[in-house]
Amino acid sequence: MFDPTKRYPKPPFDAQPQPWPGLAMRMHPKPDHGEQSYQGHGRLSGRKALITGGDSGIGRAAAIAFAREGADVAINYLPAEEEDAREVIELIRAAGRKGVALPGDIRDEGFCRSLVDKAVAGLGGLDLLVNNAGRQQSHDSIDELTTELFDWTLKTNLYAMFWITKAALAHMPAGAAIINTASVEAYSPDQNLLDYATTKAGIVAFTKSLAKQVISKGIRVNAVAPGPFWTPLQISGGQTEEKVKQFGANTPMERPGQPAEIAHVYVDLASSEASYVTGQVFGASGGKGEP
Ligand code: NAD
Ligand code: MG
Repeated sequence: MFDPTKRYPKPPFDAQPQPWPGLAMRMHPKPDHGEQSYQGHGRLSGRKALITGGDSGIGRAAAIAFAREGADVAINYLPAEEEDAREVIELIRAAGRKGVALPGDIRDEGFCRSLVDKAVAGLGGLDLLVNNAGRQQSHDSIDELTTELFDWTLKTNLYAMFWITKAALAHMPAGAAIINTASVEAYSPDQNLLDYATTKAGIVAFTKSLAKQVISKGIRVNAVAPGPFWTPLQISGGQTEEKVKQFGANTPMERPGQPAEIAHVYVDLASSEASYVTGQVFGASGGKGEP
């Protein structure tokens, strides 16, 4: 047992801009993805999972947790993130599970289809999908948001989820689960995240609609809505440098969450113990924000 307000780093943090998409290994303090702490209990024994954005941040924490719970795990990430991804593959293998590395850009529909095919081939099937990759860039005004930038965010956060989910459903048996990553931004959008917040609200609606559609196949669909988490997304353009320095300070916890603190939600939604849970959104946000 420990005091949750005292266990992890609090702001102020150093400004530490990295070029997008950023690497977890270059952040300071280093994010905690559960490398030293996550203990599995066989809750996902024999499961086969594809996690997008599994190289760093929340997706990496889910990948480590899934592997330690007994799942084989394929991760997708961008080629620029190979160094982070390699560490995750090693951690999955150290847990005694199969780790499959599938780099590539999910803004491309053809790539999304081949990603699912390669995951199915590499894992010998697919019964868990975590749509977690995301694009967040801070822009103060709608005037700065070009059509190209708006499209980039929507392609990454919405279209890719649609393409990957559609391809994955063709392979998923009854009992499978899909988990999408939304955000508190779906409910209380900040003024500088207009495009991003729009996609996160879309992810919530997509999750609830698809859940009703595919429960007839025995497949559950849920979402996780994180508050502020200490990840490369935030320091590679997701927030202004000034906001990075105070990141998480405005929550009752007075600090950002660490990815390790949200992995259990993904495990819970993936596990068959959550057999009555579908179309729901679960939060972890240090006491501020919905759901
Ligand atoms: P992160 O930077 O560690 O993960 C995002 C990942 O998205 C990257 O690692 C990258 O692999 C992937 N990605 C982005 N564009 C891609 C593309 N075109 N092709 C393939 N992969 C691409 O940051 P994170 O915070 O862990 O983000 C994970 C999810 O959590 C995102 O959906 C994000 O919106 C969501 N989220 C994060 C926070 C937070 O405070 N960190 C809060 C709410 C929601
Ligand atoms: Mg990354």
